[in-house]
Parts: sequence; structure tokens; C-alpha cells
Amino acid sequence: MSGLDTIDEAAIQRLRKIGGEDLINELTAIFLKNTPGRIQAAREAIRSGDVNQVMLVAHSLKSSCANLGARHMQQIAAETEKIAMNGDAAPLPGLVEKLDESFRSVRESLQRRVTQSPHRPRILVVEDNADNRLLVRALLQPLYEISEYENGTDALAGISSQSPDLVLLDISLPGMDGYAVLGAIRANPSMADIPVIALTAHAMTGDRDKIIASGFNDYISKPIDDEQILLDSIARLLKT
Ligand code: MN
Repeated sequence: MSGLDTIDEAAIQRLRKIGGEDLINELTAIFLKNTPGRIQAAREAIRSGDVNQVMLVAHSLKSSCANLGARHMQQIAAETEKIAMNGDAAPLPGLVEKLDESFRSVRESLQRRVTQSPHRPRILVVEDNADNRLLVRALLQPLYEISEYENGTDALAGISSQSPDLVLLDISLPGMDGYAVLGAIRANPSMADIPVIALTAHAMTGDRDKIIASGFNDYISKPIDDEQILLDSIARLLKT
């Protein structure tokens, strides 16, 4: 096999759905950190004739490769595991060197992925209702990095530490309500320009005018019957 081992994009897509770009980056970092030590452990186990240990190491490598979609290396690890399980020591040194070679390619692919991956905008969701948070997360996670907060005080701390690209802010919150949170955002020069969309069940005539007049950039009423309205509003505000 020549050239770089590529990463199976379907595996990456799955990870993105589960935990966004953060999960992909953390798994990549763990894989890059742990794999050289595992390969070294396999070499040492071969030297000391511990075929069972080679099998265990190959098994761990196999699942780590599967998580990240490193298919070629995963196959070599599976083959190594199987041969070690059969107690056949002779092919193991060659297989471990193949694993090492494959790892170097995978490492290059992963590092290239990380540097090429586009910036995914971060959206901070402030909503006290767990059902609504779950729904909003399901809608937004394929496209954005999401941070969630249940109240205004925690959200303000989150905004200053994470500098999100946009905030989705519920109006009725325990403690500080959405207007008070917005006021604090607009009063702080480092956060003042962040687009903020009001998320509210108060779908009453006049509310929209009041909300926009208070400085929100847009208004989405709950329940979210048409998710495209929310997605379009976010996309439009992120562009400006
Ligand atoms: Mn609420």
C-alpha cells in the first residue's frame, strides 16, 4: 500500500454528530499521544515472547483506529490481534512494523485534517427548559459548536470565556431574564457586538417589536415549528 492512509469521512461525520469538532479534536489528540507508546509496548512484548500482550495491544489499537476511521491501520491491527490470538509469533514483528508505518500515514492525514478543518461557528444557547435545549442542540449540532447554559449568570460567564459567534437567548429564565442578560452583553464592550437571537414562548402581538427594540438581532418563537426559520436567521446573522 502506497501513499497516505486516508481517514474514512463517514467515521468523522459520525463523531461530529455525537460531539462536534471538539470530540474529533480530543480523540485525535489522544490517538496521536497514545499510539506510539502502544506500538512500542507491542515491540517489547514480542521481544519478551508475550504473545498475549501483543494481542491486547493490537485489540486496543483496533478500536481506537475504528473510532477515528483509520481503516487500513484498523485492518492491520485486526490481523495482528487474530494472529497473536492463534499464538503464532513468527509474523508479529513484521505486522507491528506495518502498524508503525501505517500510523505515520494516519498521523499525517489527521494532522492535515485538523489544520484544514474550517472554523465552525460557536453558538451559545441559554435556555432553562431541558427539552428545548435538547431540540435546539439536535438542530444545530450538525453545523455549529454548541455551548448550553440554564441561566443568565452562567451564560454571561460562558460568553466572556468562549467568545461565541452568536447567542440564542431565552427570555423567561430563572433569576436574570433574557432582557437583563442582553443588557449585560450590550454593556460589555468585548461582547457588545455578538448577534443575539431571542428565543421565547411569548408569541404575543407587540412582543416582537419590544424584543427588537431592546436590542435583540432577531426573534424566534417557541415551540420551533419550522426549524428553517431558526437556521436561516442564524446563517444570516453570522454573515454580517
Ligand atoms: Mn424559559
